[in-house]
Amino acid sequence: MHSLKIGVVGAGIGGLVAANALHQAGHDVVVFEQSKQFLRVGADINLTPNAVRALDPLGSSIAQAVRASAARPTHRISRTWDSGEETSRLEMGDEAERKYGAPQLTIHRADLLAALADAFPASKVRFDKRAQAITETPDGVDISFTDQSRHTGLDVLIGADGIHSAVRAAMFGAESPRFTGVVAFRAVVPTERVKDVPNIQAFTKWWGPSPESQIVTFPLNQGRDTFIFATTGQDSWHEESWTTPGSVDELRGFYSAFHADARALLDACDSVLKTALYERDPLPHWAMGRMALLGDACHPMMPFMAQGAGTAIEDGVVLARNLTGLNSAKEVPAALALYEAMRMERASKIQIGSRGNNWLRAGGNADWVYGYDAWNTPLEAPTA
Ligand code: FAD
Repeated sequence: MHSLKIGVVGAGIGGLVAANALHQAGHDVVVFEQSKQFLRVGADINLTPNAVRALDPLGSSIAQAVRASAARPTHRISRTWDSGEETSRLEMGDEAERKYGAPQLTIHRADLLAALADAFPASKVRFDKRAQAITETPDGVDISFTDQSRHTGLDVLIGADGIHSAVRAAMFGAESPRFTGVVAFRAVVPTERVKDVPNIQAFTKWWGPSPESQIVTFPLNQGRDTFIFATTGQDSWHEESWTTPGSVDELRGFYSAFHADARALLDACDSVLKTALYERDPLPHWAMGRMALLGDACHPMMPFMAQGAGTAIEDGVVLARNLTGLNSAKEVPAALALYEAMRMERASKIQIGSRGNNWLRAGGNADWVYGYDAWNTPLEAPTA
């Protein structure tokens, strides 16, 4: 097998999954990350069975670290905002593991990143490297950074640099993501404070009176904490941030007519973070020559199907499988084109589906999302 020189831009979840899978396959992988170090930013990551099934074969150290800090929601429940009526219920623990080969796990984003980073050689992560310009020459891909440094002669460059991807801009032109008119609040409270709310160890979604209005709660940190994620329409707030504080009074105000169980969760919050939600339309291409995109860089999506991280993880695995076993770097463009063909239809369908906010509202079959197997799906373009 030919060992490739691969650069991954972005040490987020998708970038680190791809980096680990490619490193394990014997490639020479370097990760370039704009931050000075890994930061404990963000709160939740919801890993549905398709995501856990893609993560587990990356190695026992990752699987064990994830399970040591994650929670395992018992069910996925839908409730109506005012009456509290339950409109759907899926078993997610043992039942999902039996059916899909993995359970649902909910984890702090920083714990997942730490598990992935610990499994990858630290000497191969270059921090404080903000990608600025990328060019492909007959000798490979060259990348330059805002600190004026350069890295040249890569056989492959992977853009895993999130919704504002510089690699995407270099490949397909700069274009700003679109504000959706929806804002999101995130809070974490000790479960002890909300233990009287029914099914507190389940993933529960409260469906509000309008499509953008919802409250989702699930356990974190092995169930010791409860994560609260609420969205609502608000055109006047445009700030996209994982660290900006919001107001708990504003949060409670938006949902003051919700059922008492939902209000009890918001009443338990001491503080909350607030962010505006942005998205893009599906791209016509993710790969070009020796460059390819994955995760939010090519399919940023609304959080309503909870598949942002899961699809990035799937991308990373399928991309690594496509680049493994090549006879020379000349085969890279065809391998990346096949990766695009294998992944784009599914990711775009989830990206578009996430806009509608109807996923599993009143039951429905989750198999096409949760049952995907990134390690064993055939390495061939799907037939129409
Ligand atoms: P991302 O997770 O966005 O990772 C992109 C990485 O690329 C980041 O590390 C970023 O610093 C780096 N990067 C960006 N531009 C450049 C550049 N020009 N050069 C070099 N590096 C670059 N989702 C949730 O559901 N809940 C959360 O609490 C949450 N918190 C988040 C906090 C942060 C700081 C970020 C960046 C994302 C967060 N997300 C959160 C989003 C979620 O992680 C992603 O939607 C999803 O996991 C897809 O991952 P990704 O790897 O494609 O992109």
